Amino acid sequence: MSKKPRPYTGSYVAHICKKCGCMFIAEDYTKATAIPPTWRYCKSCCEKMGIDYNQQTPYRNRTPEERQKAKEKAERLKQAREIKNQNK
Ligand SMILES: [Zn+2]
Repeated sequence: MSKKPRPYTGSYVAHICKKCGCMFIAEDYTKATAIPPTWRYCKSCCEKMGIDYNQQTPYRNRTPEERQKAKEKAERLKQAREIKNQNK
């Protein structure tokens, strides 16, 4: 894992816990493109699941299904690019 600091937009936004659905206020790392963001777990869910609340990122918090979907999407984009290049 890279140690690159996450981009902190400097504001706090309401998040909805990915697990229990409760609302909590946290630093905005995604410029809140989804409103309210749902990629984070609240502090108590993190404790229950053994996740470090402060180490959460939208990528690390992906479920295996989400990871698979992202992989498939990346694959499709790659194929589309290759087809485009062949037609040049
Ligand atoms: Zn929760």
